[in-house]
Amino acid sequence: MKTLATLEPLTTRLLEIRRIQSAASVLSWDQETYMPAGGGAARAEQIATLEGLAHEKLVSPEVEKLLTEWIDPSSGQATDTWDEPSRSLLRETWRDFSRAKKLPSDFVIRLSRECSLAQQTWVTAREENRFSKFLPSLKTILELKRDEARYLGYRDSPYDALLDTYEPGATVAQLTPLFAQLRARLVPLLQRVQASTVTIDDSCLHQSFDQTKQLEFGRLVLVAMGYDFERGRLDLSAHPFTTSFHPTDVRVTTRVFEKDLPSCLFSCIHEGGHGLYDQGLDPRFYGSPLGESVSLGFHESQSRLWENCIGRSRAFWQCFYPILQHTFPQQLNAVSLDQFYAAINRAAPSLIRVEADELTYNLHIMLRVEIEQALIEGRAEPEDLPGLWNEKMQSYLGIVPERDADGVLQDVHWSMGAFGYFPTYTLGNLYSVQFFEQAKQEISQLEENVAAGHLIPLRQWLEQKIHRWGRMFTPDHLARRVTGNGVSPEPFLRYLETKYSELYRL
Ligand code: ZN
Repeated sequence: MKTLATLEPLTTRLLEIRRIQSAASVLSWDQETYMPAGGGAARAEQIATLEGLAHEKLVSPEVEKLLTEWIDPSSGQATDTWDEPSRSLLRETWRDFSRAKKLPSDFVIRLSRECSLAQQTWVTAREENRFSKFLPSLKTILELKRDEARYLGYRDSPYDALLDTYEPGATVAQLTPLFAQLRARLVPLLQRVQASTVTIDDSCLHQSFDQTKQLEFGRLVLVAMGYDFERGRLDLSAHPFTTSFHPTDVRVTTRVFEKDLPSCLFSCIHEGGHGLYDQGLDPRFYGSPLGESVSLGFHESQSRLWENCIGRSRAFWQCFYPILQHTFPQQLNAVSLDQFYAAINRAAPSLIRVEADELTYNLHIMLRVEIEQALIEGRAEPEDLPGLWNEKMQSYLGIVPERDADGVLQDVHWSMGAFGYFPTYTLGNLYSVQFFEQAKQEISQLEENVAAGHLIPLRQWLEQKIHRWGRMFTPDHLARRVTGNGVSPEPFLRYLETKYSELYRL
């Protein structure tokens, strides 16, 4: 049986490619955090050059020659007898190679450059609340993404080709019934919450909170979660994100507003969940698919598990609320734990996705998925967006933004060319509850541990079950290994119905 040692000529090349990509990621992180505004155009060229170089190296004749020695190009399967890590490495490298091979290098460079520029345009368009300023960039990006879907190829919808980039194996055909099931139970649940006689007052979260102290508390929670600051950093950015250059250098960002306690708090926990995944990848496999996260849906499951199943649970705040009160005595000493727990779980239709509660969050996603699918399939054009957005907000959430900055301009994704990314948020939500339920069965006294502030057993369980495997298994296979099932909306819906029935006495 052949082992990873045989693949060394290939893994050496993959390592070099990953180092180039990691360098590009450092530049992107800097662009979002510390780069002066004037550096934008030059930075776009620098990142595009590195990404073009990485792409060229991946699709090089040398890599192709090595791969086709061991893989049957028609089936994508290894031709010899290999141990499991080698077989997975070959399967996943072939996937990356054959997808990259379909995209011409000049297209990859152009797409990267246009996305960097569009992202910068989006920042100012959002600040100025001017969709028209963003429109020309959006048109360019959309054309490029439609081209990309054509290059990659697809069977049913061009959207499938883009979706597969982020969530291998996911399709419109699989997602459509899944979203329908969610809509069928979430919309009535929201209506029952709104009709409830219980009203939750969350004004305690919107007093004046010192920004430095908010950041200190976020940092304290990250440490408790096991996020390693020797291998990580916390910085500020317009849109919180996590990026990784290696398992020994994984960075998270947050944002902080004086009058909005949940924003910094929950984005720290959320990004911390992402950060733990990247810090939990096996550094021995850096450079190969075995050292990468399995999908964005899985990545999001980690952030949402920490943010919601832990960060919005009563058990978590039994330990952390007294510390938060100690940090903000003037603001919170008169607010009981029960009041605080209810306030952070208040459900109400709102305009901004990243600040939406657990109940309405997936309605925000549904709207975006429908719009971007229509754009990619050519059933809608960028000019239609503000109107389309507001129409769907009205129909799912019953509210309409007054400014595009609080509507169609709120998310960075389309400026980055990340069409097909949004569904992974919902998949992540569904997986998060599936994994958490499994963790409760397998970790003894998990809830008591959480209530005592001991979060490490959960981090270790996630690392053992999910993080360390990288892309050894496909997302569906890994989900079945962890929980016995593929992705399912049922546990998530049950969890929300139980939680909100209790909170709103439904
Ligand atoms: Zn996330």
